[in-house]
Order: sequence, then structure tokens, then C-alpha cells
Amino acid sequence: TCEQTPTGPIETTMCDYETIESVNDDLYAQLHDLVATPFFKYFRADLYRECPFWDENVLCMNKDCAIATVEEEVIPEKWRSKALSSVERAEHRESLPGCYYRDSDFCFLDDETEGDYVDLSLNPERYTGYIGESAHRVWKAIYEENCFGQSEASLTASHKGNGPVVLPDTMASVLRIDGQEPAEQCLEKRVYYKVISGLHASISTHICHEHLDPTTGKWGPDLQCYVNRIASHPERLQYIYFNTVLLLRAVARLGPYLSAYDYCASGTHEEHTATVEKMNKVIEIADFAGHFDETVLFRGEQADIVKEEFKQHFRNVTRIMDCVGCDKCRLWGKVQTSGVGTALKVLFEMDEKALDPKTNANLLQRTEVVALINTLHRFTESLHAVADFRRLWRAANATD
Ligand code: FAD
Repeated sequence: TCEQTPTGPIETTMCDYETIESVNDDLYAQLHDLVATPFFKYFRADLYRECPFWDENVLCMNKDCAIATVEEEVIPEKWRSKALSSVERAEHRESLPGCYYRDSDFCFLDDETEGDYVDLSLNPERYTGYIGESAHRVWKAIYEENCFGQSEASLTASHKGNGPVVLPDTMASVLRIDGQEPAEQCLEKRVYYKVISGLHASISTHICHEHLDPTTGKWGPDLQCYVNRIASHPERLQYIYFNTVLLLRAVARLGPYLSAYDYCASGTHEEHTATVEKMNKVIEIADFAGHFDETVLFRGEQADIVKEEFKQHFRNVTRIMDCVGCDKCRLWGKVQTSGVGTALKVLFEMDEKALDPKTNANLLQRTEVVALINTLHRFTESLHAVADFRRLWRAANATD
């Protein structure tokens, strides 16, 4: 199972596995350079909020769960909160009175005036030892958001219990998804599940690829971890490809906007030009491979209701990130749910006019651009790791 590469069309996209395979090495290399630039490596997030759904007292004390934040003085001046005028700060807070979050269609973003800056390049997403009840409760709550057709109140109430978490063998089984009752599954619900399951699979791939061997104390890929979590569930790998296409499509649609964006962090023209050059290479690949027909979703009589529900559920997922009991996992959870939320917004909320950088120069906040590109980088890194696991599998079986 580990060696097989999926082939043919990637369901609900207009792209095939072979196309993604053919571009991934180059795409990953370009993104790897891009996320190391000052514009993309600093991410601001408020990491110490209360969990809004249940009493979460678990705090992962392993040193690998911890993150190092960056002093504000290190951050280019124009992004510091002090650089925002008092009027801007008040406007930020008033946009959702009494609430910390700012609503951005498919996700709640942390207020840009609150929280700490983190250098993502110094805090890689990898195995942290965050396991057990707390992690399982968060994943369970995220999958339960897939229950369309219920009211928001009953959904959020369903997360509130503090009893033991009983996990199904696979989350799809409790939700009766993935071909179990295909006639009853609307396309939007299937897409929602793929997005979440693909994100989960991508995080698991990173955990398995950068794993700590407790006996030797060394970091490295753990093939058995990958076989158990991903390879023995082929659909999970397929959903990593699916998310990659979805994010590439968002980047392709944003092409002119991202090319015209001001990436100047230190004020030098060279820095901006170098970042734009790297971004243009990514956009070129996204134009070639990011084929996803967003117009097939949210059609028909119930379209507006389904879309509103989809948005509410995904927004809840971004809030559930405050319940993750490990700082580094919470950081990357926030980056990636914001990145996917931004892609969904670009695909489902914006027409060509809205995407035009001339008429809509402030289309996205810096946080959204940083999250989108870092999330695409995470998924392409997962596919890169998958290629590595295939090689390890072949080597292990050749010597048997
Ligand atoms: P889990 O990954 O916890 O999965 C729980 C159950 O979900 C499984 O038993 C299975 O039934 C089902 N399932 C698993 N994968 C899928 C899938 N792709 N699709 C559908 N169903 C699935 N740990 C780290 O070490 N580093 C991190 O950076 C990190 N980040 C995290 C970020 C978030 C947002 C969360 C919630 C957790 C994070 N964790 C991280 C914890 C990690 O994801 C696992 O929960 C942990 O390693 C325990 O794994 P597990 O094998 O018990 O199964």
C-alpha cells in the first residue's frame, strides 16, 4: 500500500494525480524559498486564549510543544501593533464587539493588534508528543462540525461535554461519509470532509516524517507511523492531493493580486523584487496545475443555506484551534486553518472584479497571505515526505 501512487483524476477537481506529482518537486522547492523570506516567516497569532467550547486544562509540557516568540523590535516596523493608529486599532476591535476574533468569511482571524509574532522557520511543525485525550477531543470536535443540517447552537453544545472521548476507528465511520451512503451526501459535505481529513493527514505525515525515536533520541522518518496513519487509509493520501489542488486554485485566482502585493519588509527594493520573483514562479505552477471548478459547488435551491452552514462550520474549526493543548500544534493549526479558510474565501466569495488588484488593493490582510502560502508549503512538503516514505518502503522490502 505504501508504494502505490494514486493515478487518474482527483475527484471533484479538474486535475489528476500525475499532474501534481509532476510539479511537486519544483513547487515545493519554490515555496521552501518563499516561506524563508521575512514577509512570510513572521506570523502573528494570539496563542493563549481560552477554549470557547469546553474546559481545556491540558498543557503539553514537553519541550517540543513549546514555541519561541519573537520580540516586537525584530519585526519590521510597519507590521508592529504600535504602527497601527489608535483609530485602526479601535476599528479592529469594534468589527466584532465583545469578541476577540475578526470574522473573515470562512475563518475567524486573530485580531492583528493582539498576540505575539512567531518566526515560523524556527518552529517547524513536527512530532511534539501531544497525544491522548486532549488531542482526540479536538479532532473529534473538528469532525463533528461536518454534521450539516443542525443548528449552530446544537453543534457547539455537542462539543461541551467533558467526559471521556470515545473515538471511532476512523472519523468517516461515525459521520457515515466516503461512499458509505453516497446518495445522501451532498457534494459540499464531501468537500468539507476531504478538506478536514486531508489537513489531518498532512499534519500526521509531518509528525511521522519528523519523528523522535525515544530509544535513540534521534529525529527522522518513522515508516511504521506513516503506514498506520496514512498508507493503510489510501483516501487520506488522496485528500492531501485534493487540498493541494484547492490551495493552488486559490493562488492561481489570486495571481495578479499576489504579483502586485507589497512584500517589502525591511524597506529595500531588492528584497521586494526577490520575493515577487519567487512568488511569480509559484503562480506559474498554480496556473498550470491548480484546476478546480469552484462553480460546481453551492448551486441549486438551497445554495445560500448550505454555503452559510459550510462557512459557520469552518469558522468553528478555526475557533477550536484555541482548544489545542500544545503551543506549537496550536500555532500550526491556526496557520493552516486560516490558510485553508482564506483559500475557501477566494474560491467561493470573490468574483473576478473583487480579485482585481487595481479595484481592490486591500483584498486580503497580510496574515491571510502569509497563512495561505505557508499552508500550501505544508501540503507540498507532505507530498515530498510521501515520496520519501515510498523510497523507504522500497528499500525496506528490497532487503527482506
Ligand atoms: P489522531 O491523529 O489523534 O486521530 C484520531 C482518530 O481520527 C484516529 O483514531 C482515526 O480514527 C481518525 N483519523 C486519523 N487520521 C484521520 C484522517 N486523516 N481522516 C479521517 N480520520 C482520521 N502532534 C504533534 O506531534 N505535532 C503537531 O504539530 C501536532 N499538531 C496538531 C494540530 C492539531 C490541530 C491537533 C488537533 C493535533 C495535533 N497534534 C500534533 C496531535 C496529533 O494530530 C495526534 O492527535 C496525535 O499524534 C495522536 O495520534 P493518534 O494516532 O492517536 O490519532
